[in-house]
This record gives sequence, structure tokens and C-alpha cells, in this order.
Amino acid sequence: MSAELIARLIDATAAVIREQAETLTALDQAIGDGDHGLNMKRGFEAIAEQKAELSAKPLGEALQKAGMILVMKVGGASGPLYGSLLMAMGKAAREPLDAAVLAEMLAAGTAAVEQRGKSKAGEKTLLDVLHPALTALREGSAKGLPELAEAVQAAAEAGRDATRPLQATKGRASFLGARSIGHIDPGAQSCALLIGAICKVLEEAEV
Ligand code: ADP
Ligand code: MG
Repeated sequence: MSAELIARLIDATAAVIREQAETLTALDQAIGDGDHGLNMKRGFEAIAEQKAELSAKPLGEALQKAGMILVMKVGGASGPLYGSLLMAMGKAAREPLDAAVLAEMLAAGTAAVEQRGKSKAGEKTLLDVLHPALTALREGSAKGLPELAEAVQAAAEAGRDATRPLQATKGRASFLGARSIGHIDPGAQSCALLIGAICKVLEEAEV
């Protein structure tokens, strides 16, 4: 992957988190402690600050470094979780990047989140977005990434919406028990936003 494309991915992810930080905070105020927007913003701004250095690296190394930045800079559950996701995706990265490789990367990343969070799909977390996105990626992996982007984004958004009726059994929201029902999970929302931003870049870049 070219340095230019890595730089565009960094710009797009930082931008969507910056623009939506208040929404993420509001979701976390409803079922958590209201810091998710700030946590994510701190992390993705720190990645953006190192854009030149990161984009000069091969994709796998850039992802691993970005993951380490998240672990170091982000307080809260989401730092180590998103950090593990990016580090594992980076370790699984291979060139040339195509849909099948991206599916392997996302599978490794999702497994790392599960291991770190001792969690699985259906517990009202970002895993409820990662799993359907991975399924869409695998189902369409014969296609090129640009054609797939729309399906992956739609799957991620459906996964996010499906967290609303769930009762949280992991993270702070689980302290609310049944009162966590009826709200979208903040981590699922940030994950759907990030996947959407990445899909848009890949679609336009015609990788
Ligand atoms: P904190 O919960 O420490 O305040 P954040 O508010 O930044 O951290 O992140 C909360 C999000 O992290 C949740 O919305 C959920 O998606 C995710 N999360 C929390 N705990 C877990 C876990 N054990 N496994 C997977 N995801 C989790
Ligand atoms: Mg929080």
C-alpha cells in the first residue's frame, strides 16, 4: 500500500472521530462514563500527529505502531482494545493487499479484541460490528475492495444498530444490567464510523 493511501486512511479516520466525538461521548454518557469521544479523539489525534512517520512504513508496521500509540495514549477500555485490534491486523498484513488478505487481517484483529476483552459477539461491544464486517468481507472476497466497500460498511452499520436492543455483559455498560438495553453501544458506533471512513477511502482509491 502506498504512503499516500496510508496517509489518507490516517486523515479519514482522525477526521471522522474528530467530527463525531460528541456523539460518541453522548452515547457513553447514556450507558458508561461519557469519555469515549475524548478517548478516541486523543488516540486518533496522536496517530494523526505521526502521519508522516507512519505513512513511510509498510502497512503492517504502520498498523502495529498505530496500535501501540492507542494503547499508550488512550485511557479506558477502548485504548487496549483498539490497540490490540490494530496491532494484530498489522501482524497479519501482507502485500499485495486484497479483500482476502484484509479479511485475514480483520479476523486476526477481531480475535485479538476477544482475547483482550475476554468477550465475544452479542455482548454489546465493538465486536458486534467487527464480526458482521468480517462476514461481509469474507463473503465478497472474490470481488475487488472498491466493490466490497459498500457491503462491508452496510454490515458494520447494521451491527452497530443491532447493539441497541442488547443487554451489555462486558465493560462499564454491564454495570447497568437491563438498563443498558435501548441504547447503541459507543464502541460499536466508533467502530462503524472507522470502518465507514476506511471503506470510503478504499472505494475512492480503487485499490
Ligand atoms: P471505558 O469503558 O473504560 O470508559 P470507553 O468509554 O473508551 O472506555 O470504551 C467503551 C467501549 O469499549 C464500549 O462501548 C465497548 O464497545 C468497549 N468495551 C468495553 N469493554 C469491552 C470488552 N471487555 N470487550 C470488548 N469491548 C469492550
Ligand atoms: Mg467510557
